[in-house]
Amino acid sequence: MTEADIVIIGSGPAGCTAAIYAVRAGFKTLVLNGKAHGGQLVRTHELENFPGFILPLSGYEIMDAMHKQCARLGVHFSVETVVKIEEHAKPFVIRCESGRQIAARAVVAATGSAQMWLGLESEREFMGHGVSSCATCDGFFYRGKTVCVIGGGNKAFEEALFLTKFCAKVYIVHRRGAFRADKVEVDKAKANPKIEFVLNCIVHSINGCDKSVGSITVQDVNNKSLREIALSGVFVSIGTTPQTDFLKDSSVKLSARGHVSVDIKNHTSVPGIFAAGDCADEHHNQAVIAAGAGAKAAMEAIKYLNEGLG
Ligand SMILES: Cc1cc2nc3c(=O)[nH]c(=O)nc-3n(C[C@H](O)[C@H](O)[C@H](O)COP(=O)(O)OP(=O)(O)OC[C@H]3O[C@@H](n4cnc5c(N)ncnc54)[C@H](O)[C@@H]3O)c2cc1C
Repeated sequence: MTEADIVIIGSGPAGCTAAIYAVRAGFKTLVLNGKAHGGQLVRTHELENFPGFILPLSGYEIMDAMHKQCARLGVHFSVETVVKIEEHAKPFVIRCESGRQIAARAVVAATGSAQMWLGLESEREFMGHGVSSCATCDGFFYRGKTVCVIGGGNKAFEEALFLTKFCAKVYIVHRRGAFRADKVEVDKAKANPKIEFVLNCIVHSINGCDKSVGSITVQDVNNKSLREIALSGVFVSIGTTPQTDFLKDSSVKLSARGHVSVDIKNHTSVPGIFAAGDCADEHHNQAVIAAGAGAKAAMEAIKYLNEGLG
């Protein structure tokens, strides 16, 4: 069985920062990558709110630098998806999808969150054929076309603004008249002649045309009227859900929405297991906050091991 002092599950900003602190404290540190090396941030083309950089960088550039920093310090990475933690005996045993088992004296869960979908049958039907959740990944395919972004948060606005670089027209479809997004993002979108708002509307259906998307039908939430909008791409950006399924059968407490419940020092309900970043934060899903929480969780893991508890 592989052994490490501190195993960090996730290689986004929270996991990488936790790893930097853990390895610099002299502990054998292993990061389990999961399926998204670098986490969600690699999907953003322009990051302007991470301190320390005068000009915007892409999420990929920041995560690549964090990974290289970790590697230079001696952090080990392994592409493994965790399916379960056996937390009743010490060391903890981490079970991976591959069948591999890893013994850990302390664990930091930093597994982030995953995209939420509308839940429409037609959304499933056209997934990858006009329905996407990532403008950075798929925007290029819609050069000169009309698309929509569903959502009213910062990510939705970022996606819409990015898409205006390729697309002829971008609708922002939102079920309310007001937005969760920051004013600066909303102002940028309002000033962009390629963006048109479709407000107080939900997506009723995504309609096909030659096996790909040809239009959407939206429904006004107030008068229930339907309207069809011709377009080729639908980018869903309505929020995320924490990736904590691997903890469901353990005694690590989760909130009603599935986030890991942590105290102010990022301790979970199981001593020796800590959590940080989007998987443990219902309210503030930002890279700098995830990084800070990762540092805090690692400092607590270090203290736990230094006190001989693990
Ligand atoms: C399109 C987009 C734009 C964004 N723009 C910004 C922005 O401008 N500024 C900003 O501050 N934030 C932005 N964010 C939010 C930011 O990316 C997240 O808040 C941040 O990445 C959270 O970091 P994290 O380390 O908690 O989780 P994540 O980055 O989600 O990383 C989670 C990691 O856990 C791994 N993992 C998951 N489950 C398992 C498992 N079972 N076993 C092993 N590994 C697992 C994943 O593979 C991944 O490596 C954006 C997000 C998106 C999607």
